[in-house]
Amino acid sequence: MSESIMIIGAGVAGINCALNAADYGTKVYLVDDTPSIGGMMARLDKTFPTNDCSICIEAPQMYEVDNHPNIEILTNTEIRKVKKTDASFKVRLVKKAKFIDEEKCTACGACMEACPVAIPDEMDGKIGGKRKLIYMPFPQAVPNVAVVDPECRHGKMREDGACVGGCVVDCSQCRECPIALCVKACQKEGKDAVRLWQSNKNLNLEVKSIVVASGIMDAKPAEGLHGYGVHQNVITNMEFERLMNAGGPTEGHIIRPSDGKHVKKIAWYQCAGRGLADGVPYCSKVCCMVAAKQTIITKEHDPSVETLIYYNDLKAYGKGFWGFYEKAKENGVRYIKARPYDVFEDPETRNLTIRYEDVETGNLMKEEVELLVLSTGLIPSDRNKRLAKVLKIELDNLGFFKEEDPMMAPLETKAKGIYLCGGATGPIDIAESVVQAGAASMKAVLRIGD
Ligand SMILES: Cc1cc2nc3c(=O)[nH]c(=O)nc-3n(C[C@H](O)[C@H](O)[C@H](O)COP(=O)(O)OP(=O)(O)OC[C@H]3O[C@@H](n4cnc5c(N)ncnc54)[C@H](O)[C@@H]3O)c2cc1C
Repeated sequence: MSESIMIIGAGVAGINCALNAADYGTKVYLVDDTPSIGGMMARLDKTFPTNDCSICIEAPQMYEVDNHPNIEILTNTEIRKVKKTDASFKVRLVKKAKFIDEEKCTACGACMEACPVAIPDEMDGKIGGKRKLIYMPFPQAVPNVAVVDPECRHGKMREDGACVGGCVVDCSQCRECPIALCVKACQKEGKDAVRLWQSNKNLNLEVKSIVVASGIMDAKPAEGLHGYGVHQNVITNMEFERLMNAGGPTEGHIIRPSDGKHVKKIAWYQCAGRGLADGVPYCSKVCCMVAAKQTIITKEHDPSVETLIYYNDLKAYGKGFWGFYEKAKENGVRYIKARPYDVFEDPETRNLTIRYEDVETGNLMKEEVELLVLSTGLIPSDRNKRLAKVLKIELDNLGFFKEEDPMMAPLETKAKGIYLCGGATGPIDIAESVVQAGAASMKAVLRIGD
């Protein structure tokens, strides 16, 4: 019987699950299909309810995982096939090429400087974030290596000015490249780590149990919802999180996308899109605390900024959450129980006028703000359907992984030996994800329920 376990998803849940199982003496394969471990927490600024710096908490854990003798990290890796035998799972994985020799890359950044093309960053594009075609996922990424955008390598970025892709020979055929500026820059540094000819690798593993820690995603509002996608100064709470973050594209300056002006009045819409045909149909649990946090941090940046939260219900279910909400109020945020219905932009000032019904008085009101933040909620990972099919386990009606019995067999699935933790089970905060990770790791190590 294999003594190893595999964890799918390396956000804060997967990382804590891995550390727990590995400290117990179990060999752990920690798999993530993106180029770095860290998940959502690596993108956050500070975390409620303590407002500790998010990456300062997570980065040491990421490095511990990287250096743990019992943990093997497999990033950029997809689970392709899983076959259950009596006491184990035979897993076929594909490690997608990063076009980098991970042993040789030291993340010096010379290749990025040499790359002639900057495109909008996947996460920060809306608020001005850009990245090169060879890039670091984020400064503290683990593994701390660069990755080449496959679109560049496949010649699809030529029109944007990319230096590779115009050659008559496919990159996979060459072992040297006289064209690519990143290759030259890397060689000049004496490293020769860029490998445009690298191909995907198949891996086969046998593990006794699997933990699904595939997490959550922040919901994107439908085009036009409260002006999103129409007015530049309407952004999501995740985009605001990145705006506040010193490691984000504005280096922590809370400036608005339309003109880079320091914002003096900001409103948050809670439950944006909830209940609409293309909105999130459930409460995501964390958004009330996220908004409270964002107002507190905004005031830390500049106490003169006016903050308002339009809400219809308040969720403060965790330890210290009510006190956190009180702290936000003490800091001067105005909570307005409201039903907002439309948003207009002044074409000259680019300010937004919000019209809403004050639920307590029944009056129709309006307010002018400089930035509007939509709290859109947490949704399941968009790869859950595929993963559920491969693992032959069920999703619930919302698209999260289904626990066999939340009361009697929490974090277990119908398939013996497959367990769940963190956002894979539904909307969740960091503390709860870590608690579940500890429980799931022990279930996986001991193969509980078999
Ligand atoms: C704007 C915002 C602010 C927040 N602020 C706070 C806060 O202040 N405090 C707090 O407690 N919580 C906060 N949260 C919630 C917090 O982000 C989550 O609780 C936490 O990220 C859940 O961790 P996780 O590991 O379960 O999932 P994730 O962080 O989502 O990690 C999942 C990982 O799995 C990987 N993955 C997904 N599918 C696959 C697959 N099929 N194969 C391989 N890998 C896969 C992903 O790439 C990712 O790396 C916030 C959320 C948002 C949106």
